[in-house]
Amino acid sequence: MSSPSAVQFQHVKKQYGELEALKGISFEVEEGSFFGLLGPNGAGKSTLISTMAGLVTPSSGQVKVHGFDVIDDYRETRRILGLVPQELISDPFFSIRELLVLQSGYFGLRGAVQSAWIDELLERLALADKANENTNALSGGMKRRVLIAMALVHKPKVLVLDEPTAGVDVDLRRTLWEFTKELHQQGHTIILTTHYLEEAEGLCEKVAIMQKGEVKALDTTATLLSRHNYRYLRVSLSEPAQSLIKPLQSRLVEKEPNGLVFKLEKTASMSELLSWLHESRLKVTDVSSRDVSLEEVFLDLTGEGKS
Ligand code: ADP
Repeated sequence: MSSPSAVQFQHVKKQYGELEALKGISFEVEEGSFFGLLGPNGAGKSTLISTMAGLVTPSSGQVKVHGFDVIDDYRETRRILGLVPQELISDPFFSIRELLVLQSGYFGLRGAVQSAWIDELLERLALADKANENTNALSGGMKRRVLIAMALVHKPKVLVLDEPTAGVDVDLRRTLWEFTKELHQQGHTIILTTHYLEEAEGLCEKVAIMQKGEVKALDTTATLLSRHNYRYLRVSLSEPAQSLIKPLQSRLVEKEPNGLVFKLEKTASMSELLSWLHESRLKVTDVSSRDVSLEEVFLDLTGEGKS
């Protein structure tokens, strides 16, 4: 039996004048899953995420969060969803703690338990020593931490992160992923968009790849990777290659100072490859093989760079 849905997109379309930013998107995100929404710039990821948070109204179609319609049952869905947007905030009037208290008030959350949660968020996101400073005095990375804390203030069942690690330092990335993994383990649904496909590959159980307002692929990360039936073989050489026999020439994807990289069908036999290397009289010092990455699958499907 499949798990209940955290989010359901049903034939979601969004028109901006002539432009069809979303061309009838339908898919579901299972409750408790770690889901990645990938795609080149302009694919429609932010627009789709915004429909979930009620920030963009679809031209047609429906979005449901835990079974509630994001437009008709706005209050319920706002309570279930926490969104970390891309834009940074800057508020000259309030300190970080005050912003978190205000945000809590919006959800009717007060008292000692809520204060303790705010303290924990400040601590976990390394904001504790800046808690009483105004947000306009903070660096970009710090501002992003505040946005994450604000999205988590009401312990949303579904956490949506729009490019959370764009332009942030390694430290924050690590903190952020540790924290989101923990939330995921506790049963929260995590949905993220990211340009860092190696991050998505490591974190997301399922990914949707969008392009030009459509979903090009949606599957478990493992299935997407296994469907792309080739691997990369790096051959290190002690002397530069003179000439390659045909089967190697056609599979060569990269020349490196001390070696060559070939793209090989998974079905190709290793002994055949070794004999090709031998026939080409290559002075091989090492051979290493790696599977295709999500980034390569992405390029295969979209034919585009990431941005
Ligand atoms: P992504 O997040 O994948 O980069 P977006 O959802 O931001 O893509 O944008 C999808 C398309 O919709 C783009 O062509 C973008 O220019 C257009 N778009 C997004 N928001 C608006 C808007 N408010 N008005 C007009 N066009 C928009």
